[in-house]
This record gives sequence, C-alpha cells and structure tokens, in this order.
Amino acid sequence: MLAAASLLAAACAPGPTAGPTGPSGSRSPETSPVAVATAPPCPPGPAASQAPAPWWQDAVFYEVFVRSFADSDGDGVGDLRGLIDHLDYLQDLGIRGIWLMPVAEAASYHGYDVVNYRAIERDYGTVADFRALVAAAHTRGIAIITDLVVNHTSIENPWFQDARRPGSVHDHWYVWSNTNPGYGGPHGEQVWYPEGKRFFYAQFSETMPDLNLANPVVTNELEGIARYWLDDLGVDGFRLDAIKHLIEDGQQQVNTPATHEWLAGFHAAVRAAKPDALLVGEVYDLTLISSSYVPDAVDLTFDFELADKMLLGSRIGEAGSLASAQRDTLKRYGGRSYAAFLTNHDQTRTMSSLNDGGSARAAATLLLTNPGVPFVYYGEELGLTGAKPDERIRSPMPWTPSGPAAGFTTGTPWEPLEAGSAATNVAAESTDPGSLLAHYRALIQLRDAHPALRIGSFVPLDSASRAVYAFIATLGGDRVAVIVNLGAEAETGYDLRLAKSATCGVASVAVAYANGVSAAAIPVPPAVTGDGTFVGWRPVPLLPAHSTLVLTLD
Ligand code: CA
Repeated sequence: MLAAASLLAAACAPGPTAGPTGPSGSRSPETSPVAVATAPPCPPGPAASQAPAPWWQDAVFYEVFVRSFADSDGDGVGDLRGLIDHLDYLQDLGIRGIWLMPVAEAASYHGYDVVNYRAIERDYGTVADFRALVAAAHTRGIAIITDLVVNHTSIENPWFQDARRPGSVHDHWYVWSNTNPGYGGPHGEQVWYPEGKRFFYAQFSETMPDLNLANPVVTNELEGIARYWLDDLGVDGFRLDAIKHLIEDGQQQVNTPATHEWLAGFHAAVRAAKPDALLVGEVYDLTLISSSYVPDAVDLTFDFELADKMLLGSRIGEAGSLASAQRDTLKRYGGRSYAAFLTNHDQTRTMSSLNDGGSARAAATLLLTNPGVPFVYYGEELGLTGAKPDERIRSPMPWTPSGPAAGFTTGTPWEPLEAGSAATNVAAESTDPGSLLAHYRALIQLRDAHPALRIGSFVPLDSASRAVYAFIATLGGDRVAVIVNLGAEAETGYDLRLAKSATCGVASVAVAYANGVSAAAIPVPPAVTGDGTFVGWRPVPLLPAHSTLVLTLD
C-alpha cells in the first residue's frame, strides 16, 4: 500500500528505453537539449523491495445477481448453470473477479435473509453446480467471491426458530430484551420487535433478526461457515454485507469499537484458512468512516461517497467535487485499498441516474481508470436502465435483440425485462464498435495494459475548464494521462496545469485510448519546467462533449 505522502512525490521514472544510452544511438527524451534545460531528470523506478500488490489490485470485478443473469433450464429464474454458460462473455470483457450476490439458501428473492448458510439456494442449483462454476471461472482466470451476510439471518432460519424459546440452544444467538427498549435505529426506524414475552433486535426488517455476534459461539459458527465456502467450495473471498451494523452498544448502533474488533478477528480467521482471500466490506457511510475499516477489519471497502461524486460529476458536467472527493479518498485510505463503483444492487442504475449515453461513457472512464479496484454491476456495461423498487434495479440481463425475454430465458422471466432490450443487449452491442459495451471493453484492456492505472501513483491535474477531469498515473516507466470532458459542450480552453512538483520531462505523447476525440488529432506533450510542474497544456485543440482521451507520456 502506498503512503499518502507518496502520491504527489516521485511520480515518474525512466521507461525501459529511457536514459543516456537509448536505442539506436539516439539521445533519450530526457537528455535532449530542450528537456535538459527545463525538466527535472526522472528518478529511478520503485524500490525492488516493494511488496507485490495483492491479486485483487489487478482485477476488475463484476457483480452478478444470479437470479437475473441467465436461466439455463427455462423456469424463468437465473441459475448457476446459466452463469457458467456465459463466463466467456465476462472473460472477453476482461473481468477477473465475480462478486455473487447471496447464493446460500434464503427466504427472499434477493438472498440477504439466509435460511441455511451451508446450502446453495435451490432456485440457483446444487453444490455440484457451484463447484463447477468455481472451476470454470478459475480456468478462465476469474476469481469468485460471494456475499456473506453475518449481521442477520432470516426469521425462518432454524437458529431463530429455536431461539424463540427462552433457554433454547440458540437463544443467545440473537439479541433479546425482556422489556421493549423503545429506541429507534440510526435513522429513527423501528429496531425492536415483539416475540412472545420478549423483544428482538432487527436493524433491517422484522423478518431479518440481528445475530448476536458478541456471543463467541455464533462467531465460531460463522468462521466455520467461511471456512466451508473457502475450503470446500473454493471461493476466493467474500463481500461482507452491512458491516457497520454488526455489534450494537446500547443506542450506539453503528461503527462501534466492538464491530471493528469482531471484524479483525474474523479477518484473521479467513486469512488463516486462505491467506490470499479477499474481504471487501459494505460500509454505507462517508469515506471518513468506510476507510476506517481498512486494512484491519477488511481488505477493501466500497467508497460510496466517491461513487456519488463520480455520478454527480458525470450528471452535471463538473469535475470539482469529484476531484476533491478523489483526493480525500486517497488520503483517507492511505493509498488505493478501496473498491470503486458507480452503482450496486441497492441503487438507481447509472443510465437511469444520468439518463444520457454520453454521460454514462464519461462515468465509465472515471470508474475504470480509478485508482480503486473497480466493481461493475451487471448490465451497467450495456447501459441497462432501472429505478426502484428494488426488483427493477435487479431485472434480467438482456442477451439478444429478439424474443420477449431477450435471451435471458426460454420461459417466463421471474421479473420483466426493462424496456429497450431490443437495442440494449449483449449481442447488439458486441458488434457495434461505438457501443457503451465496446467502451467498457476497451477501458478494461487499457487498465490491463497499464500497471500505472492499477497500482501506480495518482497525480491530479487542474483544468481551466470546470468540465474537464484529468490526472496522471505513474508506475516506473509507465506514465498515463487520463483526460475526460464530463460536460455536454466541447471544450477548447481547458488548459491543464500541474501545480505541484510531480513529474519529469515529457518528450513525446501518444494516444493510448480515445473515445469521442477525433482520430486525426495529434497530441502534443506538456512543457515540464525545472521544478517538475507545467501549465497551459492542451494536448489536443478540442475535447468534444463527454469525450475521453488517454495518453502515454515518454
Ligand atoms: Ca433456472
């Protein structure tokens, strides 16, 4: 992990062909007369002792709701075999990790109210199907992590059914009070519910009682469940649901010290079972709070505040609040150990939030060039629409242009598809080089090709235009400038400025990726001064609305 202070320092180093003895006897860029006079020399690359980044830093993840992804047997419900049948699509897209929303036996369609943690949801398939999925994914270089819900169970879970009887084996597995404490939850919502002569605590719903994680017997059981999924079923980690709510301390119900302590112990148990397992936590809160869970409690947390600012910037066409949030994120997380995303299964889909294909392109660039580990919610790469109620943001994946269910099922889909699947579907977008899917695919390839984007230093650039968001990412000789016009107007006076001393000479630039920018535009390098800064850089004369320009600097 990078220290925050390193983000603006030593941001460049010579490329493989740089230095005084460049190829073909030519002088290297940094020793040309102009560069010597004005730009600082490039420092050596990163120290050899630097620990390798964990595997997930190199991955782009994809969140799958199995019920809505692909149905293999015509019952209208997506299943594990359906997902296996479509792994090639995810491999082609460049996905290296899949986050499965809950696949354990659950009471509700969404799976977040588990009835049996050691069984596969019968609608989705069998344990054999799950093992086949893990094997097929691993063959393609794709890791599998699953949602693990430890805060609460279904009221139908046999543990709770037993716990309803005072003095039963599972009595203390839940949180009981003999009298009604009467207070509400963090947002004033009801959290205490009557059961017999007692009251139980439930943060999210009367049908989802909170487990008593202060009971070491419960902790032991959950650690055993984690080992079952890691060892017996072969998963590569977990997405831990709702972790700020785990252990209440009276009316202090979120982010308690006891919650942090429990997670640190759980994290250690997971590492003991599988040292490179990933734990990514959902802390639906400010960056200030979500970052406090890394790295002790979990390896990554989703940065909801940054996600909001990526969407806001894309929607209103202004970079300022996003640039500020990104700086804050890197500072709070002390580097880059966080999960970046635009939306998940609880939020209005990107295309419905932005309602504009150009803005969705800009948002995709922000996500897939982000220093955090990107997570793509299924269908976002197609521009799938959806707004609450929840079922509508979790609707079936459109695969083909024809048929009432767009290739999702041969039967009647459990939930109707969104309108527009005749154009918004995998088959149609796969053959259209101008599609949003093509943009996603190209951006993921770009990220794969440039370690600077995945694990490099991040140097923000200021722009004279409020609509332009830009930064330079650097790792060793890999230097990449990302420039995005978030606005709906073309920008010409967008001069870029590097105010802090953070880079070395740039002799030439080349287009690594462009979307919406004229292919005829030949970019020019910035004029780096002796103190490692530059002003007035306009690599191309015009940045069209919502365009992306990614340059390599040599
Ligand atoms: Ca099915």
